[in-house]
Amino acid sequence: MSEHTKYSNCFKYQDSQLCVENIPLENIAQRFGTPCYVYSHQALSNAYRQFEVALQSREHLICYAVKANSNLAILNLLAKLGAGFDIVSAGELQRVLAAGGAANKIVFSGVGKTADEMKLALQADILCFNVESSAELERLNEVAKKMGKVAPISLRVNPDVDAKTHPYISTGLKQNKFGVAYTEALALYRKAQTSKNLRIVGMDCHIGSQLTDLAPFIAATEKMLALVDMLAQEDIRFEHLDLGGGLGIQYQDEVPPSIVDYAQALIGAMHGRTEKIIVEPGRVLVGNAGVLLTKVEYLKHGEEKHFAIVDAAMNDLMRPALYDAYHHIQPVHKNTGNKQTYEIVGPICETGDFLGNARSLSITQGDLLAIMSAGAYGMSMSSNYNSRPRAAEVMVSGDVAQVIRERETVAQLFSGEKIFV
Ligand SMILES: *Cc1c(COP(=O)(O)O)cnc(C)c1O
Repeated sequence: MSEHTKYSNCFKYQDSQLCVENIPLENIAQRFGTPCYVYSHQALSNAYRQFEVALQSREHLICYAVKANSNLAILNLLAKLGAGFDIVSAGELQRVLAAGGAANKIVFSGVGKTADEMKLALQADILCFNVESSAELERLNEVAKKMGKVAPISLRVNPDVDAKTHPYISTGLKQNKFGVAYTEALALYRKAQTSKNLRIVGMDCHIGSQLTDLAPFIAATEKMLALVDMLAQEDIRFEHLDLGGGLGIQYQDEVPPSIVDYAQALIGAMHGRTEKIIVEPGRVLVGNAGVLLTKVEYLKHGEEKHFAIVDAAMNDLMRPALYDAYHHIQPVHKNTGNKQTYEIVGPICETGDFLGNARSLSITQGDLLAIMSAGAYGMSMSSNYNSRPRAAEVMVSGDVAQVIRERETVAQLFSGEKIFV
């Protein structure tokens, strides 16, 4: 099993105490409070380096998908390791630049880019716009023309393959809103080629998230390559092929391909080609590098079920409510008492506000729990529902723990609001 599929290397028990690298989570709770996201610097760096090594035989660029976790410290760490970035909004563009990311390593994905967002990205001189429709292609050409610029583009091709993942995070099927239809791509590349303010640099595809099988990746890549060959006959050539992100991690008992196997499959499919490979991993870099630390506020014994009501909720970690996603939940201090089956729920007024179902734990009021594999799509999807300030974020490296995002204050929550007069 490769590093990214397990969190136990940087998150493990020492004398019944769950630690992140060398620091017990209990100390982190004491210093920074709960709920709190805690990340391991080493786990993050390791996952990134595994990708680098696995792709080293090819010219490549790893564009971290910012939406998985957009904290500046995480972006900065990845930028220092050499990463590029896959962004989906002007907000993410500004985050990457503020974190010291290189503009010429940014690819801009997303089906709804506004003219203002295009302007900002053109001003910054990003590497490539991953264009997702004919209308977007026209708009980008116009915006670039007004600015006297030439926009580097790639078309996001929808290969119509089934990624066999949760329907909400499957993006490469005909019925999805993403990308341009495979059958439309040829015509659109021709159109781009005759547009004065567009420059074709690549082709791109991304079929979904949390993929645990290599077959859909290979099928999508092969379909793309067939298109690349067709276009070569018309003298349309590419500097890079962007094979997307989507590699899954282990949350429960899935066995996703290792980073090495994944990279080798991509390299194999690209055999004999000279284009640079771009990948857009998000979850696999950060997912198992973070936990959500929470405290048990109450134990409540209902007629049918036992509840552990914790101080984290669906606004902090939305994945269970949104996708019925599983996160392993571990006690921060291992107790030896009898176990009980608990529903792990938050204080929010929604039945969907749960973090785990039917978990067997030995806990008492006031205990701390670690919700594992919470580094990706945790904090970045959090909200202020129920006027709950967002959690603090802490990065741990060895013996050092440092806040990388202060806990939000209630005053911040309504600072932009005005009484109507
Ligand atoms: C979300 C997204 C990714 C990253 O997906 P992961 O499953 O986190 O690796 C990559 N590319 C695009 C276009 C995306 O929308």
